[in-house]
Formats: sequence, C-alpha cells, structure tokens
Amino acid sequence: MRILEKQLSAQMECCPQCGKVLGTGRVDKRFCSEACKNRWHNCQRAPSHAKRVQRVLRILDSNREVLVKLLKLDIHKLDRGTLLFLGFNPNYFTSLYRCGRRQWIYSCLDVQYELTPSRIKNIAFLWEGADKEEKEGGVMPLPVSSEGL
Ligand SMILES: [Zn+2]
Repeated sequence: MRILEKQLSAQMECCPQCGKVLGTGRVDKRFCSEACKNRWHNCQRAPSHAKRVQRVLRILDSNREVLVKLLKLDIHKLDRGTLLFLGFNPNYFTSLYRCGRRQWIYSCLDVQYELTPSRIKNIAFLWEGADKEEKEGGVMPLPVSSEGL
C-alpha cells in the first residue's frame, strides 16, 4: 500500500533540472535522465555568474586600493615582491596597451602603471584630479588620452 502511494506521488513529481514530469519508474527517481542529473549537480557546484563577476570586481577594487595607497604615499614604483605582498593581483586589470616596443601600460580602473617582470613603475592616475575626486566622490570626467584619438 505504501509503495503504491509513493509511486502515485512520484508520478506528479518533476525533474528539478528540466521540469519534465517524472512519471512512473523507480520510487526514488529524482531526475528524468542521467544528463539532467549531471547538469543539475554541475549547476549546484558552479558559482553563479553574479558571484563570479563580484569576485573579479573585488579583486580589481583591491588592486586599485593598493595602487591608490602607494600614490598617496607618493610611491610611483615598487619591486614586484612587495607589490604582491601588499595583496596586488597582477592578473587582473581593466586595460592594457602597448607603448613602444617593450613597454606595456596597464590600467586598473582610473590608475595606470607599467609592469615588468621585476617591478611596477610609473603608477599614476589616468587623468588629473582623479585623486581629488577620490576624496570628494565626484563624477569622473572623460579620461585625458596621452596618445590622442
Ligand atoms: Zn530532466
């Protein structure tokens, strides 16, 4: 009798992945197929898109914080080891362009810098007054391009 009840209620249950009614079959059947079962478990494990984006933004924000702290101390270059020790993650930046044969200019939001295998140098705000806005929380003007458009 109990088994029959379970089977009847199982008929109304749906696959949590695709929503298909499970129908008859094993009483403890939860998914319509092995593929749905795998997809569902993979989705449960994978961080959501929003979480991934937040993680990247957190790293960029933390990188910018390190750069701004250095600028406030009037430090414009530093060895790579110390930079990493301060929590800077060199794998995350918002833009990169080539300037000359071996020179690469990175930027992290409104701060730019050059990164070599041994150090970071020429740390500077992308436009004049960016440090002022930092204090005032004002609206950012358009960046001043040194290259010209
Ligand atoms: Zn399914």
